[in-house]
Amino acid sequence: MKAPLCKVCLESDILCNVCSKRVEEEKITQIEIKRIKKVYEIVKNNKEFENLEIKRILGINTIYIIVPKGHSKYFFIRNGFLLKKLSSVFKRPVKVVEESGDKRFFIQKLIQPATLIGLNVLYTPESKKYIVRIPYRERKFVNEKEVSQILSFLLPGELEIKFE
Ligand SMILES: [Zn+2]
Repeated sequence: MKAPLCKVCLESDILCNVCSKRVEEEKITQIEIKRIKKVYEIVKNNKEFENLEIKRILGINTIYIIVPKGHSKYFFIRNGFLLKKLSSVFKRPVKVVEESGDKRFFIQKLIQPATLIGLNVLYTPESKKYIVRIPYRERKFVNEKEVSQILSFLLPGELEIKFE
């Protein structure tokens, strides 16, 4: 398994200089390190998961595992063994979302089953603000705090979720 932590750090309790720097630069958080190690514990001796790569593990009430394009298949092999196992380890629902260069597509996956009406970008002289537009009637499907937190890691700039 590949992760934003090196092999040595995946297996030890302390972080090497390179991985510590990633934490300092906020490319990964301490909570994610704990979560990534839990995934690693499950898959480490299994050849089937050798090429699985984890990018981020975000979320509060739901665990969102962000993986490269094409990697969600690993969670569904053998009847969804990994997905089921992780839901029980994290004691929360687990969602796997593949990375995409297409921001709209990615956000749509993230907020499913709600629909993304649109993603607007508002430019100000100092920054960029993303407006994620979701139908008001689908509000119940979206945990605003959680979605904002995840997108804040992935979209540089301000973010607003607008139910309309
Ligand atoms: Zn390391």
